[in-house]
Amino acid sequence: PALSDPSAGRRPALRFGERALTYAELASAAGALAGRIGGAMGVPPARAKSRAWGRVAVWATPSLETAVAAVAALSAGVPFVPLNPKSGERELGHILADSAPSLVLAGPGVELPAPVGGLERVDVDVHGSGALPEGETGDEDPALVVYTSGTTGPPKGAVIPRRAVATTLDALADAWQWTGDDVLVHGLPLFHVHGLVLGILGPLRRGGSVRHLGRFSTDGVARELGEGATMLFGVPTMYHRIAEALPADPELAKALAGARLLVSGSAALPVHDHERIAAATGRRVVERYGMTETLMNTSVRVDGEARAGTVGVPLPGVELRLVEEDGSVVAARDGESVGEIQVRGPNLFTEYLNRPDATAAAFTPDGWFRTGDMAVREPDGYVRIVGRKATDLIKSGGYKIGAGEIENALLEHPGVREAAVAGEPDDDLGERIVAWVVPADPAAPPGADELAGHVARRLAPHKRPRVVRYLDALPRNDMGKIMKRALRDA
Ligand code: ATP
Ligand code: MG
Repeated sequence: PALSDPSAGRRPALRFGERALTYAELASAAGALAGRIGGAMGVPPARAKSRAWGRVAVWATPSLETAVAAVAALSAGVPFVPLNPKSGERELGHILADSAPSLVLAGPGVELPAPVGGLERVDVDVHGSGALPEGETGDEDPALVVYTSGTTGPPKGAVIPRRAVATTLDALADAWQWTGDDVLVHGLPLFHVHGLVLGILGPLRRGGSVRHLGRFSTDGVARELGEGATMLFGVPTMYHRIAEALPADPELAKALAGARLLVSGSAALPVHDHERIAAATGRRVVERYGMTETLMNTSVRVDGEARAGTVGVPLPGVELRLVEEDGSVVAARDGESVGEIQVRGPNLFTEYLNRPDATAAAFTPDGWFRTGDMAVREPDGYVRIVGRKATDLIKSGGYKIGAGEIENALLEHPGVREAAVAGEPDDDLGERIVAWVVPADPAAPPGADELAGHVARRLAPHKRPRVVRYLDALPRNDMGKIMKRALRDA
């Protein structure tokens, strides 16, 4: 069930700014909306096989409405497609054409741009009153379709079954000792797995509550953790802002020190930020690694050691292996031997919508999903991600070099605020290492030789950037991920 125990009705479930719902209010609003979805689609809720129903789109602003819409669609057994309200018309047009929703769920009065506005619309009433539908839904029925971030190509719609949502959330509960007593501080958007599945459906499944900041701010984090919240989910850009704010903000340091759990994911957390936060608060951020297609694969466990730069161990039920280019499995746990991460388990998606070619290419013949992420394993089994196969693995002078460790080394230089590294074709080396750097002081950027020397001393001479390009900011998407494709054109 989407809601752990609706009878515990007076418990707080969701709060967005001043607006809040208890479990009873949420169940009632979602029940009413589920009835309206069924009515609009002409099928009694949760009775028919959901595939026959089509899908609904959700205009996924960070709001109570989005959370109510997600719970309503899940309890009605109708798969839903969260839409990023910041997407341009072209991307929205692509997603609507691909996913073909029958209607869109949106907050009352919210203006919808052209391609979405053309759909039949059902307004979400967070004070609606109805009963949650009864009826059977199958584990393999699709729960939602989430479009990938589009970091490496046009977004693909990952069809995520109910079974994957349930198993990933229960595996995280095991790894994090996550219970109904936990109160989550949430500052992420709600159209991706991180913000929606982990950040909203997660606490609701445990019977805990969510306080959403609307817009992330370090003040909001300090306030909520100071007022009894127990955990924070964030992306690395948020922890970077926290690390930058900490030296001048003792309240923030105190609040973080008192938190039960600080979690980072969606991209690699720079070692420098991890260490600065640990030094200022005594708390180590726990990293977990997941994808739209697989939900969560690995995490540092709360009863384990949170080592900077590692994403922990496979979650219960997840099989993970590293595979070399020739298909052989990397057996060594030496922290050196790199392979592509492949995973298998009940956390996996079913298919890319309308893309049988892409689905087939994503799996090995024996059912392992190729993540496209490269990693090494340490002697104790911890996974250390080196980067993406497509953009972060640089083949230079006979070496295979991960962009991530060079980025981490550059970020330790006091003159560097942000850094991204990639390979470019080079006649001599095959590929040469290029660094894009946002200087801490634009008036006095550290020189290319200085940075090359810094990296050579920390890592090895062959890992030094041969070219340094200076930017005012790195191109990032809504989740704060660096868009390396755009970098190459910058
Ligand atoms: P697209 O698949 O459209 O190119 P995307 O891969 O960025 O976009 P997501 O599914 O949102 O879309 O992101 C998953 C990817 O994010 C992973 O494959 C991995 O590269 C990266 N990632 C997630 N968590 C971590 C982490 N803790 N450390 C390093 N990388 C991570
Ligand atoms: Mg991807």
